[in-house]
Amino acid sequence: MSDLPFDLIRRRGLMMVLSSPSGAGKTTLSRRLLETDDEISLSVSVTTRAPRAGEVDGHDYGFIDLTEFNLLVNRDQLLEHAKVFGNYYGTPRLPVERTLAQGRDVLFDIDWQGTQQLAEKARDDLVSIFILPPSFHELERRLFSRAQDDPVEINRRMAKAADEMSHWAEYDYVIVNRDLDQSVMAVRSILLAERLKRRRQIGLAEFVTGLKVGH
Ligand code: 5GP
Repeated sequence: MSDLPFDLIRRRGLMMVLSSPSGAGKTTLSRRLLETDDEISLSVSVTTRAPRAGEVDGHDYGFIDLTEFNLLVNRDQLLEHAKVFGNYYGTPRLPVERTLAQGRDVLFDIDWQGTQQLAEKARDDLVSIFILPPSFHELERRLFSRAQDDPVEINRRMAKAADEMSHWAEYDYVIVNRDLDQSVMAVRSILLAERLKRRRQIGLAEFVTGLKVGH
């Protein structure tokens, strides 16, 4: 008796976007997800913003200047790009396409503008999640306790938060981040369910045929 040919079932990689206003806990959430799931990897964006203390070039972002950024745009080497808080951000196309082709998933920490662009280009491969803070006061507290940006920048981001949040209804899923463990579990559940979508499991028809003839 031979084993069932499970290896016939391969997966089509998906693109999972996490968006939120700054301070909703998105970065911690994505870190936790990446630590515990080796089938998904983070898309490292390029940005014209200056690195913050502790940020590493090529790991947190590729830190580039405006000339380099414009070159990437003109050469169509960015999958999406946008201006956020006065700086430019973009997703390098090649690493994403490579990862998806291997049947692996890609996680994106991008804003609503980038999410809209990905949706226009690859709606079927996109799973979008919006993270909301539990309250405005909590959002304020998290932004201030982070203290990575100067106070002027924090105030600007607070003003921006309401605008960011107005885009929540454009996302497939919305998570109110009241408790980090619960939110991580919610993201994992979404990822698992989306991976099991029939259209993402390549070779299912052949697999079922094999089951019927007793292979
Ligand atoms: P930060 O400067 O705090 O790292 O990021 C500011 C905002 O830019 C965040 O909302 C983040 O999701 C967004 N962002 C980071 N990288 C990209 C990107 O490649 N494309 C787009 N559209 N937004 C990005």
